[in-house]
Amino acid sequence: MSTPLEQAATALRAANTIVTMGHIGPDGDSLGSMLAVAGAATNAGKKAYATFGEPFVVGKQFRYLDTGTLLRPLDVPEEIDVAVVVDTSVADRLGSALPIVERAKTVIVLDHHLSRDGNLGDILVVDSSAAAAAQVVYRLLAELDWEITTEIATALYTGIVTDTGRFQYGATSAEVHQITAHLLEAGVVPPVVGQHVYEESPFPYLHVAGAVLSRAHLDEDARFVWSVLLRDDLASASLKYEDADGLIDLIRVAEESDVACLLREIGDDKFKGSLRSRGRVDVSQIAGRFGGGGHFNAAGFIAEGSAESIVAQITADLA
Ligand code: 5GP
Ligand code: MN
Repeated sequence: MSTPLEQAATALRAANTIVTMGHIGPDGDSLGSMLAVAGAATNAGKKAYATFGEPFVVGKQFRYLDTGTLLRPLDVPEEIDVAVVVDTSVADRLGSALPIVERAKTVIVLDHHLSRDGNLGDILVVDSSAAAAAQVVYRLLAELDWEITTEIATALYTGIVTDTGRFQYGATSAEVHQITAHLLEAGVVPPVVGQHVYEESPFPYLHVAGAVLSRAHLDEDARFVWSVLLRDDLASASLKYEDADGLIDLIRVAEESDVACLLREIGDDKFKGSLRSRGRVDVSQIAGRFGGGGHFNAAGFIAEGSAESIVAQITADLA
């Protein structure tokens, strides 16, 4: 019996038309992983495209990436041999790109989320111990012996650097560093990625961060810290939703907390929640109660209701 990785490689070698896609609101790992697969497949002589569901916006911090293969979901060709879903295995997370997967002859999933959540894919290459989907993509490109150019290496490095919290989180293994060494040999320049991703916020971001931090609340008994980002915060600073991606990392540093949550207002009484934990609390379970998911230590969800009511439900889970 061949492994799922070998089966995925066989399917990609035989394919003429390949579409890769990540989850809606793609982060560095999702975007880097889809661009790496589509770029390597193009170089291998395939017709290959990357896409993701609406809103079709690439965060400006990722503008150094080669997005030459990126197409809006509606512009993706009708006939597709293989769809490659990266960084999720949940149909809901594909949004308006889901019909593309449904019309592909074969669907490969390359992911590092807990597989209990998944409902997609004919060939599942899922390793929940991998630090990033980009790590799984790297293994596949190595199996295929497809060239890792500087552009592809930069895309993979982006996925690894962002999903490991700059080589800090628990899944940062020796393999992660070995892969990273290969990516640097292929031409990645770490400060280019680091400065774009982490050190290029517009000045008003400082005031938005200040507002969110000043609203932070600590529940000492539950060892739970949380805050809220309001739409007005962003509007008054002329910032976009995706400009606020790093805020959860500011909140989680409180040493009195084991679990941190940022609720970003996305509609009337509607919030996108980001959860982080250190230690023994599985935040993917808490996210799951709102229909979301993720990893043991990092998860997300969308919930309706007031911020206070959402926080009360999380606090009850932590009791
Ligand atoms: P973030 O808080 O950075 O948006 O997401 C943290 C982790 O949770 C990521 O691995 C992300 O893929 C996952 N995640 C975030 N939002 C959702 C969601 O609504 N549903 C599911 N299933 N996973 C999510
Ligand atoms: Mn990821």
